[in-house]
Amino acid sequence: MHDDRTTVEERIAKFLAERLRPALHAARIALDTAPLRVGDTWGEPWSTTRFEASGRIPAEWAGRRVEAVFDLGFDLTRGPGGQAEALVLDVDGNPLQGLHPYHRSLPVTGPDVRLVVEAAANPPIVASAGRGTHHGSLDTAGAEHLYQLRQADLAVRDEDVWHLMHDVEVLSQLMHALPVQSARRHEILRALDRCVDLPFAEGRELLAPLLSRKAHESEHTLVAVGHAHIDSAWLWPIRETIRKCTRTFTNVVALAEEYPELVFACSSAQQYAWLKEHQPVVHERIRAAVKAGNWVPVGGMWVEADGNLPGGEALARQLVYGSRFFLDELGVSTDGVWLPDSFGYTAAYPQLARLAGAEWFLTQKLSWNETNRLPHHTFWWEGIDGTRIFTHFPPVDSYNAELTGAELAHAAANYAEKGVGTRSLVPFGFGDGGGGPTREMMERARRLRDLEGSPKVRIASPSEFFREARAEYPDAPVWRGELYLETHRGTYTSQARTKRGNRRSEALLRHAELWAASAAVRLGTPYPHDELDALWKRVLLHQFHDILPGSSIAWVHREAEQAYTEIHSGLDAVISASAGEGAALLNAAPCDRREVVIVSVPPPVAGQRLSDGRYAAFGRAPALGVGGFLEFNAHPVRATGKFVLDNGLITVRIDGHGLVRSVRDHATGREAIAPGAAGNLLQLHPDDPVKWSAWNLDASYRRVRRDLDTAVSVELVDDGPLVATVRVRRETERSVITQDLRLAAGSRLLEVDTDIDWQERDTILKAAWPLDVLATEVAAEIQFGHVRRPTHENTSWDAARFEQWAHRFVHVGEHGWGIALVTDSTYGYDVSTDGRATTVRLSLLRSPHSPDPQADQGRHTFRYGLRPAADLGDAITAGYTFSLPLRPASDRLRGKPLVSVDNPDVVVEAVKLADDRSGAVIVRLYESRGGRARALVSADFPVTTAFEADLLERPSQAMASRGNAVELSLRPFQIVTLRLER
Ligand SMILES: [Zn+2]
Repeated sequence: MHDDRTTVEERIAKFLAERLRPALHAARIALDTAPLRVGDTWGEPWSTTRFEASGRIPAEWAGRRVEAVFDLGFDLTRGPGGQAEALVLDVDGNPLQGLHPYHRSLPVTGPDVRLVVEAAANPPIVASAGRGTHHGSLDTAGAEHLYQLRQADLAVRDEDVWHLMHDVEVLSQLMHALPVQSARRHEILRALDRCVDLPFAEGRELLAPLLSRKAHESEHTLVAVGHAHIDSAWLWPIRETIRKCTRTFTNVVALAEEYPELVFACSSAQQYAWLKEHQPVVHERIRAAVKAGNWVPVGGMWVEADGNLPGGEALARQLVYGSRFFLDELGVSTDGVWLPDSFGYTAAYPQLARLAGAEWFLTQKLSWNETNRLPHHTFWWEGIDGTRIFTHFPPVDSYNAELTGAELAHAAANYAEKGVGTRSLVPFGFGDGGGGPTREMMERARRLRDLEGSPKVRIASPSEFFREARAEYPDAPVWRGELYLETHRGTYTSQARTKRGNRRSEALLRHAELWAASAAVRLGTPYPHDELDALWKRVLLHQFHDILPGSSIAWVHREAEQAYTEIHSGLDAVISASAGEGAALLNAAPCDRREVVIVSVPPPVAGQRLSDGRYAAFGRAPALGVGGFLEFNAHPVRATGKFVLDNGLITVRIDGHGLVRSVRDHATGREAIAPGAAGNLLQLHPDDPVKWSAWNLDASYRRVRRDLDTAVSVELVDDGPLVATVRVRRETERSVITQDLRLAAGSRLLEVDTDIDWQERDTILKAAWPLDVLATEVAAEIQFGHVRRPTHENTSWDAARFEQWAHRFVHVGEHGWGIALVTDSTYGYDVSTDGRATTVRLSLLRSPHSPDPQADQGRHTFRYGLRPAADLGDAITAGYTFSLPLRPASDRLRGKPLVSVDNPDVVVEAVKLADDRSGAVIVRLYESRGGRARALVSADFPVTTAFEADLLERPSQAMASRGNAVELSLRPFQIVTLRLER
């Protein structure tokens, strides 16, 4: 036979596009619309346009499927989400269906049809490329109409065409996915070629035998799970997300009525909570769909949070608040973590997920790795403490699949576990900005259940998939440690004010719960459950994977900054209500302290007036307890030479350019700064990644560098006896940087208090610390522990980690001596060695241009510090104390701490009253060093029974107690939640 394959393929494509699809609606009449008419433009950016559409179904259409069809001015070159979308309601205001470019029609019954369309003019924002968008803020978005109403019709759907369309599409997509040599491919080619010549109904008959041929027994099985990824804020503000949820969720419950086999997995308790509040009718329909099995709540988290940056307790609360909402509101015990889109996953997850009742973990994002390919799609993921969780990474490489032949073939071919596993999961449905599954996808799934040449497609829930996958592959390989995403490394640093707001919120929440619990137990003060709940939920929302990473539009980040201001004052109010105001000192850190405190009102003891108007005084407080100010009786700190600060513990030498030339530890005589090098050297690099400005830091940024090694001024502004400070001022052509290098009496920490007016563009600012230690690895704090990462680039995996993240500290050391760097609000850092010294560089600020063209511009204040002569324990302690300064309060909570632990390796992360409002005290603690530990946890109140509990505070087993104390034995990094009944 002559080879005419490509010509025939083109003929089939033309038939589908030009004859079949246009014939879908056999007859149509225009709907009357008012006030907006077809042809009118509409929609200033972010505005809502409501119009009514009415008409009468002609009598001759009786018995046929009639649809209302709209074109709001859709852009078919783009996905749904970042463009016009709408909600269609009945005249009583009940949501019927959402509209987007690929879901433009809804079934109607008559004879009279009256619909209300609520259309949203969401602007078309491109985030991956370009120079940023003026559409990202109401202030700059302008007033130009973005869209034009092109169509509002009543139409009859031709059922033969509808079905033939999907027959042809499924077969033709399969044909293209099959090898050219395959007989099946040619069989389909010839049949489709003949089909073009036939009337539609006869075409269906011709194709029926091809569609009924069974798949090979050994074919890969794809478990298709309906899904709609809805970013809780991103290229739209939170207020629009609530409406996106309404549109998408309405689509899903309506679709399940047409296609009862639909199973839709939906994460993010926050999104359900929004609907419960704003759209109770839709919420009820969701509850019904959950009962019917069409709708499956998944993930057990409050939002799909960033996978790296949330603090330990916050990540625990993501799981607690999410799981509990699903349990209380929907009666569903979620059994897995669903995080397709977060930018890397902390090695603390396996343990936290299991402690929240999760049996499985789903991620998708690692398919974005730029360097290495994760070797497994189904595996056991092992965290820092050794806990393993069964994990799947869908080989379809998309969480917005459409069930096309190409996607299915890719998933089957890509699947790394071939020969030992037979199945993978495919999340299908339009997403990012919502949308969800469509009728077209459901029609495809029906045809792909068992079709020769194609992977088998079966719609089922994630739990079902994970049960089966685990049963057939119980000895799946193990991946140990973090799942580092080899891209989006700029998200550890972008939008610094948002990140600072989060870190400060986490510290204040710790204070607020501890002191509110202390006040409740000691004084009988009512515990502010409602206030704390509301504040926690706001903090958790802003940890969403486009807010905390700094990858949203200007609107979102300006709103987040405002939210954090409100959260901080709300938490300050809770702390004041519990602990009062006065001359005692609150210590929320898990260690006893005796140190200089900086306060803004005159202290009750002799203090030192500082150059910034604040006061330094001396204080003492026990771990998790309340202490007070003391007369200063320690070795003073003084400038002993020009910019040489000495407090008897360390001597810091700063040169005439404000660079740190020496930090010498008296006890060991060791020097922290590498010979001839300068510490706290600020460095600027051009930082304009090839794409994804707010997200990416390209490896090439390191090639060009500008050292800020000269200062405008260097002066000694405070000279002891409690605090000595050298103030350094630097300028670029645009930015002004003021740093106070501060040493306090009795402290081994050199603090750098920074105030920057940042006006750079596409530039990253680093603070370099060349350290006189040869470290082969760095210990970086993560949630409930730390990870060790190599400082070299031996393998492609090591090299790809050229930018890393940490929470409150990083620690480098040699045997017996080390150095910690602590931060109060930044996360990014890099580390390298030259064979003699180790350089740690903290990433302080970026200034990406997209999606927020003003990102990071303006004023920033933050602190970091160098702690020489630090072992790992010192680093952990310094991380806590640096983030949790002693805080003045009244002395009404004085006395023994509510809870104390006799082993410093065992660290308390939270003290609170139980969420069930029973009055029980909850204590969450963990082994922090990576070793075995025994500890006695003592309560300073009568304990009737002590239980070990899960993260949700549900008791698992009663513990043997000694009076009001319990003895614990912990594995490395083990987290324990104690429930102490009073
Ligand atoms: Zn996302």
